[in-house]
Amino acid sequence: METTNAFEGLTCRGCGSDHALAASARCSNCGGPLDPSYDLDAIDPDAIREAASNDADPSRPHDPPTDSRKPGLWRFDAVLPFPAESAVSAREGSTPLVAAERLADELDVDEVYLKDEGRNPTGTVLDRGLSVAMSAVAGLGEGTAGTDGSGSSPVVEPLVCASPGNAGQSMAAYAGRTGLRSYTFVPSRCAFSNKAMTNVHGGEMRVVGGRHPDAVAAVDEQLATDYTDLSEFSTPFRHEGAKTVSYELAADLGWDAPDVVVVPTASGEVLAGIAKGFRELESLGVIDERPRLVAAQAEGCAPIAAAIERGIDAPEPWGTPDTICGELEIADPEGGEWAVEAVRESGGRGVTASDDEILESAVAVAQHEVLEMGAAGGAAPAGAWALAEDGWFDGDETVVLLNTESGVKTPDVLRSHLMGKGI
Ligand SMILES: [Zn+2]
Repeated sequence: METTNAFEGLTCRGCGSDHALAASARCSNCGGPLDPSYDLDAIDPDAIREAASNDADPSRPHDPPTDSRKPGLWRFDAVLPFPAESAVSAREGSTPLVAAERLADELDVDEVYLKDEGRNPTGTVLDRGLSVAMSAVAGLGEGTAGTDGSGSSPVVEPLVCASPGNAGQSMAAYAGRTGLRSYTFVPSRCAFSNKAMTNVHGGEMRVVGGRHPDAVAAVDEQLATDYTDLSEFSTPFRHEGAKTVSYELAADLGWDAPDVVVVPTASGEVLAGIAKGFRELESLGVIDERPRLVAAQAEGCAPIAAAIERGIDAPEPWGTPDTICGELEIADPEGGEWAVEAVRESGGRGVTASDDEILESAVAVAQHEVLEMGAAGGAAPAGAWALAEDGWFDGDETVVLLNTESGVKTPDVLRSHLMGKGI
């Protein structure tokens, strides 16, 4: 399939070995996750700056992408593996960065912005990665008809994803564009909205008794056929899509990176992507300094935050995960080591908050800042408040809080929090 000029291939995060382009693969030597690599010297930093203002005109959705007009995150296709012309896209990305002055006062910092990823097509930051991953599926699927002799790995149906809910819903949605069968595995405690919308998008779904690890295990136990796994870090492209958050933040702040980005963290996928994006922007000379990255987790399941605080490289699986914020309940995060390294080398922190604090934060944002945050998104303001109480901010920072999911994902959880307070 066609790839972009600077894209060099897939490199193992574990052992550094190079691998052939595939929609879903891990390292054949060490089992590590694969990471798209680029020749950054081949990219003109000015082209990146110009690309930011090249968003396609939303009033003319049928216009094909051109060099000066690409949809959403695909504006930045110079630093993605595939060109916008071959993207499976529904205009994900280009999400608003909303100033929150009251929050800035409360946290006693210079500026606070909410990056509202709830406004992606299926209401989650994960749409970015599923768009890039599904573009690989579509492109490699075409390339494996036996005619081009490219030797790339075949794309086998069904497409599969085990997730707490949002990623599975997103995969079902994007799979619809390709006409390929998708099969989502979710735990029984997955949010109703995810289960309903996965079906509405035409995806098959298996609800597995138990929690996230049970859904992961069920893929192999219950599928008697081969499949293409689009779970995070099984495809090399989900964290790569998340990377574009960094490009948008830098662009929206006038090519001046924020000082702090607080990221609700589960598998480490989003944090790994954001860290990679800022590293690239620094290497390209587009920004001078990278932000401090904060991994915000729920107290009831915080393997990454615990590893950061304890100074160890590899998070230990969380023994008894228990948080009502389902998207945050990943006990043994696939991208744990990557996330720990990203936070540590940025000078950031791991931070935890109780379910009550997380839900209270999401409600406070809804009541004072208009935006609707899902339960997981509430970990960003809750984490920021915890850091403020800890005296971590100097007072002159620009802080970005990433809202990873829309409020309509978990209205029942937010509402029950109010009812618990007698409201
Ligand atoms: Zn390896």
